[in-house]
Amino acid sequence: ASLYKLDGWGGPYFSVNSSSGNITVRPHGSDTLSHQEIDLLKIVKKASDPKSSGGLGLQLPLIVRFPDVLKNRLQSLQSAFDYAIQSQGYGSHYQGVYPVKCNQDRFVVEDIVSFGSSFRFGLEAGSKPELLLAMSSLCKGNPEAFLICNGFKDSEYISLALIARKLALNTIIVLEQEEELDLVIEMSSKLCVRPMIGLRAKLRTKHDGHFGSTSGEKGKFGLTTTQILKVVKKLEQVGMLDCLQLLHFHIGSQIPSTALLADGVGEAAQIYCELVRLGAQMRVIDIGGGLGIDYDGSKSAESDLSVAYSLEEYAVAVVHAVQYVCDRNSVKHPVICSESGRAIVSHHSVLIFEAMAATSYAAPTLSTLGLQYLVEGLSEEARADYHNLSSATIRGEYDSCVFYTDQLKQRCVEQFKQGTLGMEQLAAVDGLCDLIGKAIGANDAVRTYHVNLSVFTSIPDFWGIDQMFPIVPIHRLDEKPTARGILSDLTCDSDGKIDKFIGGESSLPLHELEGGHGSGGYYLGMFLGGAYEEALGGVHNLFGGPSVVRVLQSDGPHGFAVTRAAPGPSCSDVLRVMQHEPELMFETLKHRAQEFGDDDNNNSVVDATALATSLARSFNNMPYLVASSCGMDA
Ligand code: PLP
Repeated sequence: ASLYKLDGWGGPYFSVNSSSGNITVRPHGSDTLSHQEIDLLKIVKKASDPKSSGGLGLQLPLIVRFPDVLKNRLQSLQSAFDYAIQSQGYGSHYQGVYPVKCNQDRFVVEDIVSFGSSFRFGLEAGSKPELLLAMSSLCKGNPEAFLICNGFKDSEYISLALIARKLALNTIIVLEQEEELDLVIEMSSKLCVRPMIGLRAKLRTKHDGHFGSTSGEKGKFGLTTTQILKVVKKLEQVGMLDCLQLLHFHIGSQIPSTALLADGVGEAAQIYCELVRLGAQMRVIDIGGGLGIDYDGSKSAESDLSVAYSLEEYAVAVVHAVQYVCDRNSVKHPVICSESGRAIVSHHSVLIFEAMAATSYAAPTLSTLGLQYLVEGLSEEARADYHNLSSATIRGEYDSCVFYTDQLKQRCVEQFKQGTLGMEQLAAVDGLCDLIGKAIGANDAVRTYHVNLSVFTSIPDFWGIDQMFPIVPIHRLDEKPTARGILSDLTCDSDGKIDKFIGGESSLPLHELEGGHGSGGYYLGMFLGGAYEEALGGVHNLFGGPSVVRVLQSDGPHGFAVTRAAPGPSCSDVLRVMQHEPELMFETLKHRAQEFGDDDNNNSVVDATALATSLARSFNNMPYLVASSCGMDA
């Protein structure tokens, strides 16, 4: 486990069982000893084994969702704020919302609404479809839960938000741009709804990490001081200043330290107090997202991958900063709202994928090289390099070996291009150089593991912004890994690889694949990817999303129950995304099969019907490799 820094990032949910060597999950957090831990590999087997042997027959890659983890995250966040509020004598309460953009999956959102209902937990939306889903989900939630409407808005968005208010959802329209105010005034009078208005302030406090580009005076979002004053004036003029009740800011995700957090919250609290002074009926301060995740387990403020505080320390810093500023201004303590997304959903899902094959460095033996034959074909200069290389090897001169190896290879490639060296001879030179490289320890020992996954679909932030996630084999952790590897995905794209890992590593400790090519059975897990990755992923090369299972802890023999299982998008599904019509495509190909397929008179089994059946299967299956028929050559 220490090789993969699991102790740093895994707690309290993920650890290694020392007797099985498998990763185990405690979805309720480690302090809940009453529950049995769940063996992740058993879930994967249950999901992927064929139906005939009691499995669910799902194809990998697979997302395993743990709603119990979601519940624990929500409760931990709420308790951290409850404790900070109580211990500091703060005069109001905490009431968070979940920004659905972090993962809009229906069951994730519904779970959050249901688990958070007892403490009035709400939702945040940033677009019209997000607002629609938040509205319908909150109909089953606590009526006091906030529905925060962020993002750029047109009159349709605003009328939707006003309808939500009519439907008795506790909706707040947060002005992202000054122009939105006119629309809110106009639409609310048309629909006869008294809106609850918030505004997003552009803070001067700047978060310098990658995720902080939204902050500072030049940030993309929010109103400047001048614009805030104009909004107040206009609301006053139309007799709606009492509608302004919330101040929001968001200085970026992964806020690295509580010092920066307190600085931002303090600045916002001062704006809040100024709005009170100017006559607004303020009641809520919404501190946005930014509560970070420790992806590499380093607990450091120095990298985007980690944060230097706990949930509890985060809550204490927020409550203290708001309280200090409000007390200084003799302003009543507001309700504190936060929009933590990453911190709520990151841990709840694990992406499981299989390594199908790995490059091997089994260098050829000298006898298979046909040395005599090789040497005969070489030019005079290449032959001199060959002899120098041989002598350097015998003398064990590392630098000379490397030099003559490069030289010999270059000359041979030139000869090959000119047509004076055959392909067999070129291969023999490569083999010889590999052999010598191995003998002197100059070969790059990092191997390439081919994984049944698309980085673009399932880990888009790795490709897009170099974000790293913990990746670990989910079994065989009682066995010392004997190789180091990078992961290469299925897409025909050289960016489709993972060659940077947490802890600044450029390769991952990995085990030998058992049973040779394509036998499968070596499962890797990507952890902490429950936020953003699913919605950001695309369909590059037409690989769609993974299969998904939802797993609850239970008292059954394995300690878990699969409560939902959904195969990932089929080839037909992903084709439809690009406007193809799989049904028509199938008909076209079926006619072609009738035209060109062997007819059954000549005893062929590959008749038109068999071809059509095979085509139909290809349309219906997922685009990923099927482990047993994997034909990847490494
Ligand atoms: N609220 C707003 C306005 C955001 O832009 C974001 C994300 O960037 C969030 C909340 C969620 O932030 P996080 O995932 O850091 O909690």
